[in-house]
Amino acid sequence: MGMKISRRRFIGGAAATAAMATLSLPRRTEAATRRADVIVVGAGLAGLTAAREIVKAGRSVLILEARDRVGGRTLNHPLDSSRYAELGGMFTGPTQDHIQALAQELGIGLFPTYNTGNNVFVGGDGRREEFPNNTPLGTAPADPVVAPDIVLAVEQLDQMSTMVPVDSPWTSSMAEQWDRQTLDTWLRANTSGSDEFMAVTSAATEAIFGCEPRDLSLLYTLFYIAASGDEQNTGTFERNFNTAGGAQESRFVGGAQTIALAMAGQLGGSVMLGRPVERIEQSSLGVTVYSGRLKAKGQRVIVAIPPTLAGRIDYDPLLPPLRDQLTQRMPQGTLMKFDAIYPTPFWRAQGLTGQTVSEIGPIKVTFDTSPADGSLGIMMGFIGGHEARYWENQPPDQLRAAAIQNLVQFFGPEAASPINDITFNWSTEQWNRGCPVAVLGPGTLLDFGAVLREPIDRIHWAGTETSTFWNGYMDGAVRSGERAAAEVLPQLL
Ligand SMILES: Cc1cc2nc3c(=O)[nH]c(=O)nc-3n(C[C@H](O)[C@H](O)[C@H](O)COP(=O)(O)OP(=O)(O)OC[C@H]3O[C@@H](n4cnc5c(N)ncnc54)[C@H](O)[C@@H]3O)c2cc1C
Repeated sequence: MGMKISRRRFIGGAAATAAMATLSLPRRTEAATRRADVIVVGAGLAGLTAAREIVKAGRSVLILEARDRVGGRTLNHPLDSSRYAELGGMFTGPTQDHIQALAQELGIGLFPTYNTGNNVFVGGDGRREEFPNNTPLGTAPADPVVAPDIVLAVEQLDQMSTMVPVDSPWTSSMAEQWDRQTLDTWLRANTSGSDEFMAVTSAATEAIFGCEPRDLSLLYTLFYIAASGDEQNTGTFERNFNTAGGAQESRFVGGAQTIALAMAGQLGGSVMLGRPVERIEQSSLGVTVYSGRLKAKGQRVIVAIPPTLAGRIDYDPLLPPLRDQLTQRMPQGTLMKFDAIYPTPFWRAQGLTGQTVSEIGPIKVTFDTSPADGSLGIMMGFIGGHEARYWENQPPDQLRAAAIQNLVQFFGPEAASPINDITFNWSTEQWNRGCPVAVLGPGTLLDFGAVLREPIDRIHWAGTETSTFWNGYMDGAVRSGERAAAEVLPQLL
């Protein structure tokens, strides 16, 4: 695990480990060669979905997962025998139809994210304000200093995003003009560009992308907004950042990782854990995928990992230059979660939702992520972008103190004494090196976007970064797995 600090360890429980027992871990005696119609690299939501579709179609599959667990960017962290914190993807909302349909099929229900009362806003000068959570701004702060710019920017970005096709943003008539700007330069030119407003936009992009507005291509940002919808509903920024009616509206019963665990349970022995893929060879006859002493041979391979990690695999023959250079231009965001655990969700009694937007970090966005029955209080804070890049290099105790200081400012003195806290930095994880999604700077979509999903002969690409709708989200991961399976199945002999 990454940088994790558990002050008082009442952490136990082995639910996830028990569920893994049926899956296959490396054995000394194992045959050096295994065969299946399709080899899948990565047992995140994308890889498992693809594998499931392949099995449903009556073909055989082998999934090679580097870690000793499935679920990738979704992760339940047990707190006791029944309660857990979710350290990765956790929320879902309207138009995320594919992850929700999958969960339903697996018997995993939804419950609403706690969202009753006022949201908190902290300005750059330290002023603390409370706003009802149902103003026209939704989750964005209704503070008079920043609200007019928020409205101005969101309206324009929504409008511009309708000109960006989610399956080929690079073909927009505005692609060149928008892919040579960053979100930062556009915001400064099209709003007041005040320090206060720019600080709010940082808080937003740090939580949404794990980066700063200066890191983001404007075209990529518009694509991400267009992708926050489905085939029937145009994407909007509000659906992306809101809780009510937006991507943070609901949570999965048992935690989002149970979706991957349930799929892996169905796939049984075809899920091979502890098998980092190092090399992929292909010829006119098929593919050979190498992990240590294991050779997995198949007709085709689906690589369901983030592009930057896919670029670290050796390929023979070499990938075409444009494909390799794409993987050099899709860095993961920098995002940490800080969970403070309290005996009760005490902020609820103060009439607070637990949702905050703050201009002062390290934590700039919070959510109440307590268990559905409220039997414990879990306050989750995002530490992203510049804040994460700075704080991951400071002593853990200093980060913890600064994070708790944020929470005291947001929710009062009771926040000073959590019974436990967890800091999880996805950038330290070998099989992520960042999250929640790849961050595309200027020029990437324009010149390299066309090869994002393009198979290289027998190699097919999945993973949320390859999705059209809900790119970057669990829904996008599921969609990408379905798409990759649909691409591969008709090609099988
Ligand atoms: C902190 C955080 C918060 C998030 N919040 C939300 C949210 O609220 N809602 C939402 O919808 N989404 C959220 N996301 C994003 C969501 O979790 C991801 O979009 C989704 O889980 C990605 O799935 P994937 O299968 O595409 O990739 P991954 O989950 O990254 O799966 C890839 C798998 O491949 C494995 N792997 C990597 N390299 C190799 C290799 N060489 N060989 C073999 N295996 C390899 C990895 O171990 C991993 O299991 C969040 C993510 C994070 C990290």
